[in-house]
Amino acid sequence: MKIGVLALQGDVPEHLRAWGSLVRPSDLVVVRGSDDLARVSALSLPGGESTTIARLIEQSGLWAPLAARFRDGLPALATCAGLVLLARTLAPSESGRDPPTFGVLDVVVHRNDYGTQRESFEAPLDVLGLAPPPFLGVFIRSPRIVSVGPEVTPIAWRDGEVVGVRGGRIWGLAFHPELSGDLRVHRAFLSSLRVPR
Ligand code: GLN
Repeated sequence: MKIGVLALQGDVPEHLRAWGSLVRPSDLVVVRGSDDLARVSALSLPGGESTTIARLIEQSGLWAPLAARFRDGLPALATCAGLVLLARTLAPSESGRDPPTFGVLDVVVHRNDYGTQRESFEAPLDVLGLAPPPFLGVFIRSPRIVSVGPEVTPIAWRDGEVVGVRGGRIWGLAFHPELSGDLRVHRAFLSSLRVPR
């Protein structure tokens, strides 16, 4: 089982570090082009700047191959900017510049809705299937999930508000589990891959 990390921009090293604690180095793939993508059986999409990541996906010729893999059911763990890129719909952000999205997660997402970089915060979360203590969610200019469609299931909440969803084998999280030093979300994602479809 090879796990890829989309490595075009964003907190790629943190994603690699988190996965590096859970899988063998030979099972971790740094994805920068379509040859890398072809080798993976699941993909992590990091946080970062979704407009930049979208542009780099296009420039590296990865847009069509990624769209095809998602259509074929490629499992994904998408955090923050990653969630933005997978959302079905973006509620227009104040900047007026939003990226194109793959549209594979049935949610409406509003970018930067939790405030500026300086307003970043940590908050205890309830995550489906995780025993206490609560998971500490890191929010950095995070997108808000403003509505959840029928094709996804909420899997994480902050004070009752949905901050993570799952649609089939695609997980989208408004927070950064790769930054909290707690691998329970990554482990849960990994175990979900072992369950037959
Ligand atoms: N605000 C960023 C965006 O919409 C996401 C921030 C993050 O990934 N921490 O691209």
